[in-house]
Amino acid sequence: MHYLISGGTGFIGTALIHTLLEEGHQITVISRTPEKVALLFKGATQSVALTQVNKIAKKVDGVINLAGEPIVDKRWSEARKQLLRESRVDFTKELIAQLKRASARPEFFISGSAIGFYGSHEGGAPLHEGSHPISGFTHDLCRDWEAEALEAGKLLGARVCLVRTGVVLGVGGGALAKMLPPFNLGLGGPIGGGQQWMSWVHLSDEISVIRFLMEHQTLLGSFNATSPNAVTNEVFSQTLGGVLDKSAKLRMPEFVMKLLLGDASELLLEGQRVYPARLLDAGFEFTYPDLEVALQHSL
Ligand code: NDP
Repeated sequence: MHYLISGGTGFIGTALIHTLLEEGHQITVISRTPEKVALLFKGATQSVALTQVNKIAKKVDGVINLAGEPIVDKRWSEARKQLLRESRVDFTKELIAQLKRASARPEFFISGSAIGFYGSHEGGAPLHEGSHPISGFTHDLCRDWEAEALEAGKLLGARVCLVRTGVVLGVGGGALAKMLPPFNLGLGGPIGGGQQWMSWVHLSDEISVIRFLMEHQTLLGSFNATSPNAVTNEVFSQTLGGVLDKSAKLRMPEFVMKLLLGDASELLLEGQRVYPARLLDAGFEFTYPDLEVALQHSL
């Protein structure tokens, strides 16, 4: 099969493409950096700029849309918020317009989203796909990103799946790459009060979720891609410290996070206890449902 993938040079996209190449599929990566694509996949994929998608002559069997400016790395200035939106909402709109111009009729359009869709929930009740979201920047961003992706159903006749992803844990990138330096030095610990929920997923399960949605042609709509066992930030810190055999008691005060990240600190200071109800109902089995084992396999 021939799949078109945006965000293919990223943490999730790279792992997904390696899996799909091993399975013998053909991949075209939509990227701003063709040289990075060539380096990562050693010439095994094609690459194309977003504005050139309409020129793709080969039949596209499915689209996986993962592009987006990193969300936690920098303070959310108005300009940054605009970039976070453009690289997801506007990008997705343009991608679908390009596919329509090419008269592409992919069977599926699987699009990234995030558990930020639910907004910041103080309470501990597990959130499933039908749970009521709380308004705020991350909810509005994910809502609009998902709304654009759903247009692929109307405009291209594609089956649309929205992957509401939790914190992805894996080797060589994502959240763990940022957490490991202080934890390795014994300087890690809970953030703020530590009682905020962290809904996480192992990278390998995230890829399996995308593969599962690709293969199951009756599935459509939103899916929480998180382990069934979300934990509090305090438990996460203790577990990571335990796996690394390091002390993890140095609490990062809330005001320091706010000074460092401004509004973006809400991603770390507030949380959601998300439950993958629809995936489990559909028969998906997590390889790493347990945090300790997932961390052991991510380090
Ligand atoms: P990465 O940051 O690793 O990669 C994202 C990719 O998006 C990049 O490789 C880049 O591709 C592309 N991109 C970045 N900025 C822009 C831009 N301004 N315009 C167009 N394309 C851009 O992300 P992940 O792989 O970690 O995540 C993939 C998606 O899943 C993201 O949208 C992310 O928000 C979402 N997600 C990830 C989570 C995680 O824990 N990793 C959690 C929840 C959601 P190139 O440079 O080739 O153009």
